[in-house]
Amino acid sequence: MARYTDAVCRMCRREGAKLFLKGERCYSDKCSFTRRPNAPGQHGANRKKVSEYGTQLREKQKARRYYGILESQFEGYFELADRQEGMTGENLLRICESRLDNVVYRLGLATSRAEARQLVVHAHFTVNGKKVDIPSYLLKAGDVIGVREKFRGSDKMKAITETCGSRPVPMWLDMNRDTLEAKVVHLPNREDIESDIQELLIVEYYSR
Ligand code: SF4
Repeated sequence: MARYTDAVCRMCRREGAKLFLKGERCYSDKCSFTRRPNAPGQHGANRKKVSEYGTQLREKQKARRYYGILESQFEGYFELADRQEGMTGENLLRICESRLDNVVYRLGLATSRAEARQLVVHAHFTVNGKKVDIPSYLLKAGDVIGVREKFRGSDKMKAITETCGSRPVPMWLDMNRDTLEAKVVHLPNREDIESDIQELLIVEYYSR
């Protein structure tokens, strides 16, 4: 039966960017944003000029939705990023990237971040040999992510690896496709993070 999945896709159209929320559909020509890049709704195609505040707000929302993070937690990440050395915006993206659910997705062990989150909650992964079921768990350089044995041989895992196995893995992660084990080589710098999020706008939003 055909299933219309526009509810999630509306977020991409609202934010004016592909947020990759629907797994493999996002990489196909079925992507709603590719077909209709204007904002959703009757007047979506006639959006007026957005204020400076509106632009900053939208960028913050875009980043939250991209990573699937709730407002309060995202705000907490910003405060943490601000306390760290270096550029706050880059720190913020690095924190988001180092979440276990994001890393599982980046490794091609889930078709979307939402699925990665669910798989983590179901305790299918380990970090340094120990079961971790917290999607927001922040990984460090040197951490080793593994797939628990029971899940490794499951039909679901096979289907995921068939679908996502050829997806490129970022250079800051070292993936062994045979053992489905991966190491965080180093935490990513801005140039390692593939996303069009303009983190400076987010910093400006929280600095108002
Ligand atoms: Fe939908 Fe994915 Fe395309 Fe976004 S990127 S519009 S979630 S298919």
